[in-house]
Amino acid sequence: MIFIDVEEVKLKIKPTWLAAARDVKKLLSAAATAKERKRIIDDNSHLWRELKTILASVSHLKCWYCETRDHRSDNAVDHYRPKSRVAGEHHPGYWWLAFDSDNFRFACTYCNSWRNGPEGTAGGKQDYFPILAGSIRAVGPESILSEEVPLLIDPCSATDVALLWFDETGQASGNPHGMEFDSAAKQKVTESIKYYHLDHVPLVEARRRIYAEVLKICDDADKANKWWNKSREQSAYDGYREAMGRLARSLKRENEYSAVALCAIRGYRATSDAARIAFEYLNR
Ligand SMILES: [Zn+2]
Repeated sequence: MIFIDVEEVKLKIKPTWLAAARDVKKLLSAAATAKERKRIIDDNSHLWRELKTILASVSHLKCWYCETRDHRSDNAVDHYRPKSRVAGEHHPGYWWLAFDSDNFRFACTYCNSWRNGPEGTAGGKQDYFPILAGSIRAVGPESILSEEVPLLIDPCSATDVALLWFDETGQASGNPHGMEFDSAAKQKVTESIKYYHLDHVPLVEARRRIYAEVLKICDDADKANKWWNKSREQSAYDGYREAMGRLARSLKRENEYSAVALCAIRGYRATSDAARIAFEYLNR
């Protein structure tokens, strides 16, 4: 998961869209019944679909939750806070945020919908939105959202994104360098792996490959640099520069699973000079 800046999204939204969303929000606030609200939401669902291209563009077409880029899937505009119901709760859903772009997330099918993986895993966010026990669930437009502590890691929160870590097996877990800053970190990581289906086996395998590839590049760079320093051979110098270039490219946020590359490099710093240099100077 990489950080997605909602301000970047807002800059791309046309004033006409904002005006239309404002009008629908007024209709929703004036609706007398939950049934009427549902009809208004359904009738205007084209509004969030209209923003899909913008949402996709800020993540370079990758799912905001898992960083997968699937060219043969429609993907979806997910409502981070579910708009019509909250699974497992007596809650009307966060209907007042149904047309609020801050609540939109670009999501792949596996993160957005419940799926049973053929390898025995299961997950998908659907209408689930667990919050920390003791925090106050928002129930209407008058509620204070900051009093609610979501347990699903939010790609639009820089502090949340830092909680996830990926290891050489490709599995997601808590960031060993960042858990102490958030007392709810462990729960957030556990719930997010479950509801974003981050243990889906093909995804884990894709991350494992990226991780191994990055370590291989580090090793290649170290080997070439060592030989260059010993031999002063031009080919060794060229090899070193080429490998460091590949490392820098692996960290670019437009790459699938760039967060995995960052974890691999960060975790390999003590072993590899190339990893240390890449983490300290090429992590832009
Ligand atoms: Zn996804």
